[in-house]
Order: sequence, then structure tokens, then C-alpha cells
Amino acid sequence: MITVDNMSDASESVDPAELEEFRGRVRDFLDANCAGWGEDSTRRDDDGASRARSFQSALSAAGFAGITYQREFGGAGLSNAHQEAYDEVSAPWHLPNLPLAISHGMCLPMLNQFGTDAQRADFMPDCISGQSIWCQMFSEPGAGSDVAGLSTRAVRDGEQWVLNGQKVWTSGAHYSDFGIVVARTRPDVPKHQGLSMFIVDMADPAVEVRPLRQISGESGFNEVFFTDLHIPADKLLGDLNQGWSLAVAMLMFERVSIGAGRGGLGGERVSQNLITLARELGRDADPRIRQALADLWIRERIKGFIGRRIRDAVAAGRVPGPEGSIAKLNGALLARAIRDVSMELVGPAGQAWGPDGGAGERWATFCLSAAGISIAGGTDEVQRNIIGERVLGLPREPNPFRDTAWEDVPRN
Ligand SMILES: Cc1cc2nc3c(=O)[nH]c(=O)nc-3n(C[C@H](O)[C@H](O)[C@H](O)COP(=O)(O)OP(=O)(O)OC[C@H]3O[C@@H](n4cnc5c(N)ncnc54)[C@H](O)[C@@H]3O)c2cc1C
Repeated sequence: MITVDNMSDASESVDPAELEEFRGRVRDFLDANCAGWGEDSTRRDDDGASRARSFQSALSAAGFAGITYQREFGGAGLSNAHQEAYDEVSAPWHLPNLPLAISHGMCLPMLNQFGTDAQRADFMPDCISGQSIWCQMFSEPGAGSDVAGLSTRAVRDGEQWVLNGQKVWTSGAHYSDFGIVVARTRPDVPKHQGLSMFIVDMADPAVEVRPLRQISGESGFNEVFFTDLHIPADKLLGDLNQGWSLAVAMLMFERVSIGAGRGGLGGERVSQNLITLARELGRDADPRIRQALADLWIRERIKGFIGRRIRDAVAAGRVPGPEGSIAKLNGALLARAIRDVSMELVGPAGQAWGPDGGAGERWATFCLSAAGISIAGGTDEVQRNIIGERVLGLPREPNPFRDTAWEDVPRN
């Protein structure tokens, strides 16, 4: 079992008066810095990224960034109770920091957990304060669900590693300063045993980022090509050839972030937003709509409880196991339910909206991105496999190549 170390050792039993004072300071900060942010301020484009950097810098200056991380690495050195208080107070706000979701939800915990002291000192403070944005480079054209089968090669050359290969679906690579990449360091052993993780400087000319355009018109993710990228040996993250266990930990952080955090799904406020919309449209007396909204509200509460269970596990020093998959699957199903109810509410405006966009455009954009939530971070089917095998104890999927060296496994 992987444990979570290196977090602030601040006691969990926090004086309630101190916590209340903290809540008040968070409220004041949000009033002063977030009034006027709307739903479109959370976009993952270049403007969104620069808004996120400025906001995060102010958050950091006020002492509310990296709440539970140690002060010496740029955190606030506070307790989990402070984090919960911050989450609770900030939940109704449209914070413009969604472009930092991967930096903070996945890369930061990885640096904290697996980085050397030098790596933590070099990279964590800027990551926490939003001065640097990070991306995650796992998926490849031939390796998505089966990410352990990836082909990007890293070959040792003196004090450096030389990387060649291609990644795809890399969210935010076009505005990221650094990335965490998984590459194959040993092709002559079974696929899970020959992987390593590296920190990549995205500004290196040997890294080429090509944005991909999505159905919504946005370009949230990219293809990334490495051509003889030289990585200093001290940018290896974790141990050599132990990349798979690090990748599993990072995927769990991702699943928790998508399924239990805000992670692009909206917070607890989505059902409330739709209840307000139903009232505005005069649909709130329709029994079908009322039932659908009540169902959404209940699902959001369940999501909140799953999130609390996971946060408690992390506070107890555990990286979440299959509960990360439960959170991720539940989050994806909730997103689909939100999509269906919102489309029912806005009706034809969800397909042809007026020049001012309005609710039709806002919910149509969500509708187009909802399916992606069932794919990102491991598909619904993959989560069901994990839950089946690791929670329900069903037989493992057959794999005739489990003990075969990666280079000997037939592939297209
Ligand atoms: C919005 C979004 C953001 C993303 N961001 C990133 C990112 O930042 N970094 C990154 O590295 N990747 C990212 N991804 C990629 C994502 O992790 C992959 O798309 C995902 O893992 C699926 O891989 P694939 O697309 O290659 O599909 P495939 O693995 O080819 O799967 C195709 C279909 O087969 C099914 N399938 C595959 N294997 C099994 C199985 N064993 N049992 C049952 N069904 C199976 C899948 O469920 C799916 O329906 C992102 C994807 C999306 C949609």
C-alpha cells in the first residue's frame, strides 16, 4: 500500500474559534478577489490559464494555497480541517483556477510524495503559487486504457536520458511549463516492469505541442512529440523502472480529483443552479423535472460523501485505492445526469441559442464535454473492471502476455 507522507504535521484537532476565524478570512478574500467571476472564467484556454496564474498568486500571498503542504515547500502548513473549511466556503464561487486542476490535483501530490528534497524545493513552491503550470503525459495513440503498454522510449546517455515518442490527449500542454511523463526505460521486461517517470521542461525545443480541436470548438488537449529530448538524470521522479507504481498512484490522485473534487464536474452547486434555472423558465412545477432535480441533488450529496470518505483516507495516510475508481465512475455518471436534465430544461435553446448565448449555450457546452468525463482518467469500463476485480473480488481479466517482455508482445 502506498502511503501519503510529507503533508503538514499540523494537528487535526483545530480550535473551533481558530477555524471560524480562518473561514472569515477566506470569505473576505473571496469577496475581494472573486466578485464578478462567472462560469466562463473557468475555461481551459490561454486566457483562462493567465487568469488562473494571477488568482493562484493572490491566493498564495493570502496563505490559502497548498493549504496542507509544508511551509518549507511553499504550502500553508495547515490541517485537513482548514482544507475542508476552505472547500466549504469557496464551493459557491466560480474560482478561475480550473486550468490548475492537473497541476494541483495530480502533479503536486506526486512531487510531494515521490520527489527528492531537491525536486520538492525546486518545483513545489512555484506549482503551489501558480507561477508554473504542470501537465500529465501518459496516454499515447497506441496506449490509453492499456497505458502500461506505452512506447515512448527513454534511453540513458551519460548523465542524461534521451526521450523519443508521442503522447496524446495531454490536457493543458499548450500553456504548461512542466509535465510529468511516463516512458519505457526497459523494453526487455514485462510491460509494467520497464517504465519510469520523468519531469519534463515543456519549453525545451525538443518538445513540440500541437493542440487538438474538440467538438465544442475549444482546444483543451494536445498531441505532444518528443524528438531527442535530453532530460538531466536528476529529473527522474521516483525510482528507475518503478514508473508503474507511481503511475497507479497518479491515476488514483486523478480519479479522486475528477470524481470527488471539483475537477470540472461542478461542485455541489450544480443541482442548485438547475433548480434556479427551472424556476426562471417556469418549469419548477413539472413533476418530471422536480423528480429529476431531486435525483441530481441526491447524487451530488452521494458524491460529497464519497469525497469525504476519500479525504479521510488521505488524512489517515493512505493513497486511495479502488474508492478512487468508485468516485470517478460516480462523477462520470453524475455528469451524464446533469447533461440530460440541463438539456431537458433549456430545450431547443440547447441546440440553437441567440446571440447572447445564455443558458442554452452554457449547457450545450457542458453537454458536449460530458462524454469526455467518462473517458478522461480511465474510462467507465476500466473503472468497472477495477471495481469488479478489487472490490467485488471477481476473476481478473485474462492476459496471456502478463509475463512476456514488452518488446515481444505483438502490436500493430
Ligand atoms: C477530456 C480528456 C482529458 C484527457 N486528459 C489527459 C491528460 O491530460 N493526459 C493523458 O495522459 N491522457 C489524457 N486523456 C486520455 C485518457 O486518459 C484516455 O483517453 C483514456 O485512458 C482512454 O484511452 P483511449 O482513448 O486510448 O481509449 P482505448 O483505451 O482505446 O479504449 C477504447 C474503448 O475500449 C474500452 N476498453 C479498453 N480496454 C478495455 C477493457 N480492458 N475492458 C473493457 N473495455 C475496455 C474503453 O472503455 C473505450 O470505450 C484525456 C482524455 C479526455 C477525454
